[in-house]
Amino acid sequence: MSTGLLTINLGALVANWQALDAMSDSQTETAAVVKANGYGLGAPSVGRSLAKAGARTFFVAVAQEGAILRTALGSGPTINVFSGHMAGDTNVIRDADLVPMINSVDQMLRHVEALPGAPFGLQLDTGMNRLGMEPSEWSALRDIALAQNPTVLMSHLACADEPDHPMNAHQLNSFREMTEGLDIPRSLAATGGTLMGDDYHFDMTRPGIGLYGGLPFAEGRSVISLDIPVIQLRDVAVGETVGYGNAWTAQRPTVVATISAGYADGLIRALGAGATLYAGEQHVPVIGRVSMDLITVDVTDLAQPPETLQLLGQYQSVDKVAGFADTIGYEILTSLGNRYTRNYIE
Ligand SMILES: *Cc1c(COP(=O)(O)O)cnc(C)c1O
Repeated sequence: MSTGLLTINLGALVANWQALDAMSDSQTETAAVVKANGYGLGAPSVGRSLAKAGARTFFVAVAQEGAILRTALGSGPTINVFSGHMAGDTNVIRDADLVPMINSVDQMLRHVEALPGAPFGLQLDTGMNRLGMEPSEWSALRDIALAQNPTVLMSHLACADEPDHPMNAHQLNSFREMTEGLDIPRSLAATGGTLMGDDYHFDMTRPGIGLYGGLPFAEGRSVISLDIPVIQLRDVAVGETVGYGNAWTAQRPTVVATISAGYADGLIRALGAGATLYAGEQHVPVIGRVSMDLITVDVTDLAQPPETLQLLGQYQSVDKVAGFADTIGYEILTSLGNRYTRNYIE
Protein backbone atom coordinates (compact mmCIF):
# COMPACT_ATOMS: atom_id res chain seq x y z
CA MET A 1 0.00 0.00 0.00
CA SER A 2 1.33 3.42 -0.84
CA THR A 3 -0.67 5.66 1.45
CA GLY A 4 0.63 6.76 4.81
CA LEU A 5 -0.68 5.01 7.88
CA LEU A 6 -2.26 7.31 10.46
CA THR A 7 -2.70 5.47 13.74
CA ILE A 8 -5.06 7.08 16.21
CA ASN A 9 -4.78 5.82 19.76
CA LEU A 10 -8.26 6.25 21.25
CA GLY A 11 -7.04 4.88 24.59
CA ALA A 12 -4.52 7.71 24.85
CA LEU A 13 -7.23 10.19 23.85
CA VAL A 14 -9.51 8.93 26.62
CA ALA A 15 -6.60 9.04 29.09
CA ASN A 16 -6.01 12.69 28.16
CA TRP A 17 -9.68 13.52 28.71
CA GLN A 18 -9.58 11.78 32.08
CA ALA A 19 -6.38 13.59 33.09
CA LEU A 20 -7.91 16.97 32.18
CA ASP A 21 -11.11 15.99 33.97
CA ALA A 22 -9.09 15.17 37.11
CA MET A 23 -7.73 18.75 37.18
CA SER A 24 -11.07 20.21 38.15
CA ASP A 25 -13.19 19.18 41.13
CA SER A 26 -16.13 16.84 40.83
CA GLN A 27 -18.61 19.76 40.61
CA THR A 28 -17.09 20.75 37.27
CA GLU A 29 -18.11 18.85 34.18
CA THR A 30 -15.43 18.20 31.56
CA ALA A 31 -16.84 18.52 28.06
CA ALA A 32 -14.98 17.69 24.85
CA VAL A 33 -14.39 19.91 21.83
CA VAL A 34 -14.54 17.85 18.64
CA LYS A 35 -14.88 20.60 16.02
CA ALA A 36 -13.11 20.33 12.66
CA ASN A 37 -13.78 16.58 12.55
CA GLY A 38 -12.25 16.00 15.97
CA TYR A 39 -9.19 18.16 15.18
CA GLY A 40 -8.68 16.07 12.06
CA LEU A 41 -8.73 12.71 13.81
CA GLY A 42 -12.36 11.75 13.09
CA ALA A 43 -15.18 13.20 15.19
CA PRO A 44 -17.35 10.03 15.10
CA SER A 45 -14.62 7.77 16.52
CA VAL A 46 -13.29 10.39 18.91
CA GLY A 47 -16.81 11.24 20.08
CA ARG A 48 -17.87 7.64 20.61
CA SER A 49 -14.75 6.85 22.66
CA LEU A 50 -15.17 9.90 24.86
CA ALA A 51 -18.90 9.29 25.34
CA LYS A 52 -18.12 5.72 26.40
CA ALA A 53 -15.58 7.11 28.88
CA GLY A 54 -18.25 9.37 30.37
CA ALA A 55 -18.19 12.64 28.43
CA ARG A 56 -21.73 14.02 28.32
CA THR A 57 -21.27 17.32 26.49
CA PHE A 58 -19.57 17.94 23.16
CA PHE A 59 -18.81 21.14 21.27
CA VAL A 60 -18.57 21.57 17.50
CA ALA A 61 -17.98 24.69 15.42
CA VAL A 62 -20.92 24.48 13.00
CA ALA A 63 -24.30 22.77 12.86
CA GLN A 64 -23.31 20.36 10.07
CA GLU A 65 -20.55 18.96 12.26
CA GLY A 66 -23.12 18.53 15.00
CA ALA A 67 -25.38 16.49 12.71
CA ILE A 68 -22.53 14.10 11.84
CA LEU A 69 -21.65 13.76 15.51
CA ARG A 70 -25.27 13.11 16.46
CA THR A 71 -25.43 10.23 13.99
CA ALA A 72 -22.30 8.76 15.60
CA LEU A 73 -23.39 9.27 19.20
CA GLY A 74 -27.11 8.66 19.03
CA SER A 75 -29.41 10.48 21.42
CA GLY A 76 -28.26 11.37 24.89
CA PRO A 77 -25.10 13.47 24.84
CA THR A 78 -25.50 17.24 24.53
CA ILE A 79 -23.99 18.72 21.35
CA ASN A 80 -23.29 22.45 21.53
CA VAL A 81 -22.54 24.58 18.46
CA PHE A 82 -20.13 27.52 18.82
CA SER A 83 -21.35 29.37 15.72
CA GLY A 84 -24.83 29.61 17.24
CA HIS A 85 -27.97 29.64 15.12
CA MET A 86 -27.25 30.84 11.59
CA ALA A 87 -29.83 31.38 8.85
CA GLY A 88 -30.46 27.98 7.29
CA ASP A 89 -29.44 26.03 10.40
CA THR A 90 -32.90 25.60 11.90
CA ASN A 91 -33.73 22.18 10.48
CA VAL A 92 -30.33 20.72 11.33
CA ILE A 93 -30.49 22.11 14.87
CA ARG A 94 -33.95 20.65 15.36
CA ASP A 95 -33.39 17.29 13.67
CA ALA A 96 -30.00 16.59 15.27
CA ASP A 97 -31.05 18.03 18.62
CA LEU A 98 -28.22 20.55 18.76
CA VAL A 99 -27.78 23.39 21.23
CA PRO A 100 -26.61 26.62 19.57
CA MET A 101 -24.35 28.92 21.59
CA ILE A 102 -26.14 32.17 20.71
CA ASN A 103 -23.74 34.99 19.78
CA SER A 104 -25.96 38.02 19.18
CA VAL A 105 -29.41 39.52 19.54
CA ASP A 106 -30.11 38.54 15.93
CA GLN A 107 -29.29 34.91 16.59
CA MET A 108 -31.35 34.97 19.76
CA LEU A 109 -34.43 36.24 17.91
CA ARG A 110 -33.91 33.76 15.09
CA HIS A 111 -33.68 30.89 17.54
CA VAL A 112 -36.69 31.70 19.72
CA GLU A 113 -38.85 32.45 16.70
CA ALA A 114 -37.85 29.38 14.69
CA LEU A 115 -37.67 26.87 17.51
CA PRO A 116 -39.61 28.18 20.50
CA GLY A 117 -38.68 26.37 23.68
CA ALA A 118 -35.62 24.70 22.12
CA PRO A 119 -32.50 24.83 24.29
CA PHE A 120 -29.66 27.28 23.69
CA GLY A 121 -26.59 28.62 25.42
CA LEU A 122 -25.18 32.13 25.38
CA GLN A 123 -21.74 33.19 24.34
CA LEU A 124 -20.35 36.32 25.95
CA ASP A 125 -17.41 38.34 24.71
CA THR A 126 -15.00 39.11 27.54
CA GLY A 127 -12.36 40.78 25.40
CA MET A 128 -11.32 38.45 22.60
CA ASN A 129 -13.62 40.24 20.17
CA ARG A 130 -14.34 37.17 18.13
CA LEU A 131 -17.66 35.60 19.10
CA GLY A 132 -20.32 36.40 21.65
CA MET A 133 -22.24 39.35 23.04
CA GLU A 134 -20.37 42.35 24.33
CA PRO A 135 -21.20 43.69 27.78
CA SER A 136 -23.53 46.40 26.43
CA GLU A 137 -25.44 44.00 24.18
CA TRP A 138 -25.61 41.53 27.03
CA SER A 139 -27.07 44.08 29.47
CA ALA A 140 -29.76 44.99 26.98
CA LEU A 141 -30.72 41.39 26.29
CA ARG A 142 -29.98 39.80 29.62
CA ASP A 143 -33.43 39.68 31.18
CA ILE A 144 -35.14 38.46 28.02
CA ALA A 145 -32.46 35.83 27.47
CA LEU A 146 -32.49 34.63 31.06
CA ALA A 147 -36.26 34.24 30.99
CA GLN A 148 -35.71 31.50 28.37
CA ASN A 149 -33.45 29.45 30.65
CA PRO A 150 -30.19 29.20 28.72
CA THR A 151 -28.30 25.96 29.34
CA VAL A 152 -24.87 27.59 29.72
CA LEU A 153 -23.14 30.97 29.73
CA MET A 154 -19.76 30.71 28.07
CA SER A 155 -16.81 32.82 27.03
CA HIS A 156 -13.38 32.09 25.58
CA LEU A 157 -9.87 33.13 26.64
CA ALA A 158 -7.57 34.76 24.09
CA CYS A 159 -4.23 34.12 25.82
CA ALA A 160 -4.65 30.96 27.88
CA ASP A 161 -1.56 29.37 26.33
CA GLU A 162 0.39 32.03 28.27
CA PRO A 163 -0.75 31.57 31.88
CA ASP A 164 0.97 34.77 33.07
CA HIS A 165 -0.59 36.98 30.45
CA PRO A 166 -2.62 39.75 32.14
CA MET A 167 -5.42 39.20 29.62
CA ASN A 168 -6.40 36.02 31.48
CA ALA A 169 -7.22 37.76 34.76
CA HIS A 170 -8.88 40.58 32.84
CA GLN A 171 -11.21 38.18 31.02
CA LEU A 172 -11.86 36.21 34.20
CA ASN A 173 -13.00 39.43 35.87
CA SER A 174 -15.21 40.43 32.98
CA PHE A 175 -16.76 36.98 32.88
CA ARG A 176 -17.50 37.14 36.59
CA GLU A 177 -19.00 40.62 36.25
CA MET A 178 -21.19 39.60 33.33
CA THR A 179 -22.47 36.43 35.00
CA GLU A 180 -22.39 36.94 38.74
CA GLY A 181 -25.45 36.07 40.74
CA LEU A 182 -26.97 34.04 37.92
CA ASP A 183 -27.98 30.49 38.57
CA ILE A 184 -26.91 29.17 35.17
CA PRO A 185 -23.94 26.88 34.48
CA ARG A 186 -20.87 28.79 33.35
CA SER A 187 -17.91 27.78 31.17
CA LEU A 188 -14.74 29.75 30.43
CA ALA A 189 -11.82 27.35 30.05
CA ALA A 190 -10.56 25.45 27.02
CA THR A 191 -7.37 23.38 27.46
CA GLY A 192 -5.22 26.34 28.51
CA GLY A 193 -7.78 27.60 31.02
CA THR A 194 -8.22 24.09 32.43
CA LEU A 195 -4.48 24.05 33.19
CA MET A 196 -4.66 27.46 34.89
CA GLY A 197 -6.56 26.11 37.86
CA ASP A 198 -9.79 26.34 39.84
CA ASP A 199 -10.54 30.02 39.27
CA TYR A 200 -11.03 29.31 35.60
CA HIS A 201 -13.04 26.09 35.81
CA PHE A 202 -16.55 27.26 36.77
CA ASP A 203 -19.17 24.57 36.00
CA MET A 204 -17.75 23.18 32.78
CA THR A 205 -14.37 23.04 31.07
CA ARG A 206 -14.10 22.63 27.29
CA PRO A 207 -10.74 21.12 26.35
CA GLY A 208 -9.95 20.42 22.71
CA ILE A 209 -6.27 20.29 21.76
CA GLY A 210 -5.21 18.67 25.04
CA LEU A 211 -7.37 15.64 24.23
CA TYR A 212 -5.43 15.13 21.02
CA GLY A 213 -1.96 15.30 22.53
CA GLY A 214 -1.18 18.94 21.72
CA LEU A 215 0.27 21.83 23.71
CA PRO A 216 -0.36 23.53 26.07
CA PHE A 217 -1.15 20.19 27.78
CA ALA A 218 2.50 19.13 27.92
CA GLU A 219 1.78 16.11 30.15
CA GLY A 220 -0.75 14.73 27.70
CA ARG A 221 -0.16 11.42 25.98
CA SER A 222 0.68 11.28 22.32
CA VAL A 223 -2.42 10.22 20.38
CA ILE A 224 -1.32 9.81 16.77
CA SER A 225 1.48 8.35 14.76
CA LEU A 226 2.05 8.77 11.05
CA ASP A 227 4.14 6.24 9.14
CA ILE A 228 4.82 6.97 5.50
CA PRO A 229 5.95 4.31 3.01
CA VAL A 230 9.17 4.72 1.06
CA ILE A 231 8.29 4.39 -2.63
CA GLN A 232 11.81 4.53 -3.98
CA LEU A 233 15.45 4.74 -2.87
CA ARG A 234 18.20 6.16 -5.08
CA ASP A 235 21.86 7.07 -4.92
CA VAL A 236 22.64 10.67 -5.71
CA ALA A 237 26.19 11.75 -6.56
CA VAL A 238 27.93 14.86 -5.25
CA GLY A 239 26.72 17.92 -7.15
CA GLU A 240 23.39 16.39 -8.24
CA THR A 241 20.20 18.09 -7.15
CA VAL A 242 16.93 16.80 -5.70
CA GLY A 243 13.40 17.98 -6.30
CA TYR A 244 11.61 21.05 -7.67
CA GLY A 245 13.68 24.13 -8.23
CA ASN A 246 16.86 22.09 -7.68
CA ALA A 247 16.36 23.18 -4.11
CA TRP A 248 18.90 20.74 -2.63
CA THR A 249 22.34 19.78 -3.86
CA ALA A 250 24.24 16.69 -2.66
CA GLN A 251 27.45 17.57 -0.80
CA ARG A 252 28.30 13.89 -0.33
CA PRO A 253 27.17 10.67 -2.02
CA THR A 254 23.62 10.47 -0.72
CA VAL A 255 20.88 7.87 -0.46
CA VAL A 256 17.56 9.58 -1.06
CA ALA A 257 14.24 8.03 0.02
CA THR A 258 11.11 9.30 -1.71
CA ILE A 259 8.11 8.88 0.59
CA SER A 260 4.43 8.82 -0.25
CA ALA A 261 2.93 11.95 1.32
CA GLY A 262 3.07 15.64 0.58
CA TYR A 263 1.28 18.89 0.98
CA ALA A 264 -1.96 17.41 -0.35
CA ASP A 265 -1.86 15.24 2.78
CA GLY A 266 -1.47 18.22 5.08
CA LEU A 267 2.32 18.12 5.22
CA ILE A 268 2.48 21.75 4.29
CA ARG A 269 5.29 23.10 2.10
CA ALA A 270 6.56 25.24 4.95
CA LEU A 271 7.72 22.01 6.64
CA GLY A 272 10.44 21.77 3.96
CA ALA A 273 14.03 22.19 5.01
CA GLY A 274 14.67 21.60 8.70
CA ALA A 275 12.04 18.89 9.15
CA THR A 276 13.06 15.42 10.22
CA LEU A 277 11.46 11.99 10.14
CA TYR A 278 12.36 8.88 12.08
CA ALA A 279 13.53 5.44 11.07
CA GLY A 280 13.10 3.62 14.35
CA GLU A 281 14.88 5.86 16.86
CA GLN A 282 17.12 7.48 14.30
CA HIS A 283 16.17 10.81 12.77
CA VAL A 284 16.68 11.62 9.12
CA PRO A 285 16.36 15.05 7.44
CA VAL A 286 13.91 16.14 4.76
CA ILE A 287 15.76 17.51 1.75
CA GLY A 288 14.48 19.66 -1.11
CA ARG A 289 10.93 20.90 -1.37
CA VAL A 290 7.78 19.18 -0.20
CA SER A 291 5.76 18.19 -3.31
CA MET A 292 2.04 17.55 -3.54
CA ASP A 293 2.31 13.78 -2.99
CA LEU A 294 5.97 13.19 -2.19
CA ILE A 295 8.77 14.20 0.16
CA THR A 296 12.45 13.38 -0.27
CA VAL A 297 14.55 12.37 2.72
CA ASP A 298 18.29 11.84 3.21
CA VAL A 299 18.63 8.29 4.56
CA THR A 300 22.36 7.88 3.86
CA ASP A 301 23.19 7.32 7.53
CA LEU A 302 20.79 4.44 8.06
CA ALA A 303 22.25 0.94 8.33
CA GLN A 304 19.20 -0.62 6.66
CA PRO A 305 17.14 0.70 3.74
CA PRO A 306 13.89 1.87 5.36
CA GLU A 307 10.47 0.64 4.24
CA THR A 308 8.62 3.42 6.03
CA LEU A 309 9.59 6.61 7.82
CA GLN A 310 7.70 8.08 10.73
CA LEU A 311 6.80 11.77 10.87
CA LEU A 312 4.61 11.77 13.99
CA GLY A 313 4.82 9.39 16.90
CA GLN A 314 6.68 8.68 20.11
CA TYR A 315 9.83 10.46 18.92
CA GLN A 316 8.20 13.48 17.38
CA SER A 317 5.08 15.26 18.64
CA VAL A 318 2.57 17.25 16.66
CA ASP A 319 4.01 20.43 18.16
CA LYS A 320 7.57 19.50 17.21
CA VAL A 321 6.47 19.00 13.61
CA ALA A 322 4.49 22.25 13.77
CA GLY A 323 7.68 24.00 14.83
CA PHE A 324 9.41 22.96 11.58
CA ALA A 325 6.80 24.96 9.71
CA ASP A 326 6.61 27.80 12.22
CA THR A 327 3.00 26.98 13.03
CA ILE A 328 1.02 25.33 15.86
CA GLY A 329 -0.01 21.74 16.51
CA TYR A 330 -3.65 22.64 15.91
CA GLU A 331 -2.90 23.45 12.28
CA ILE A 332 -0.89 20.28 11.63
CA LEU A 333 -3.66 18.12 13.13
CA THR A 334 -6.56 19.76 11.34
CA SER A 335 -4.66 19.66 8.03
CA LEU A 336 -4.10 15.89 8.10
CA GLY A 337 -5.44 14.74 4.75
CA ASN A 338 -8.01 12.23 3.63
CA ARG A 339 -5.62 9.92 1.81
CA TYR A 340 -4.09 8.27 4.86
CA THR A 341 -5.18 4.82 5.91
CA ARG A 342 -6.64 5.49 9.33
CA ASN A 343 -6.18 2.84 11.94
CA TYR A 344 -8.01 3.37 15.23
CA ILE A 345 -6.60 1.46 18.17
CA GLU A 346 -7.99 1.28 21.69
C1 LIG B 1 -11.64 25.56 19.93
C2 LIG B 1 -12.33 26.06 21.15
C3 LIG B 1 -12.15 25.39 22.37
C4 LIG B 1 -11.12 24.32 22.58
O1 LIG B 1 -9.86 24.97 22.59
P1 LIG B 1 -8.50 24.16 22.82
O2 LIG B 1 -7.48 25.23 22.90
O3 LIG B 1 -8.33 23.30 21.62
O4 LIG B 1 -8.64 23.38 24.07
C5 LIG B 1 -12.95 25.80 23.44
N1 LIG B 1 -13.82 26.84 23.31
C6 LIG B 1 -13.98 27.51 22.16
C7 LIG B 1 -14.94 28.64 22.09
C8 LIG B 1 -13.22 27.16 21.03
O5 LIG B 1 -13.37 27.85 19.90
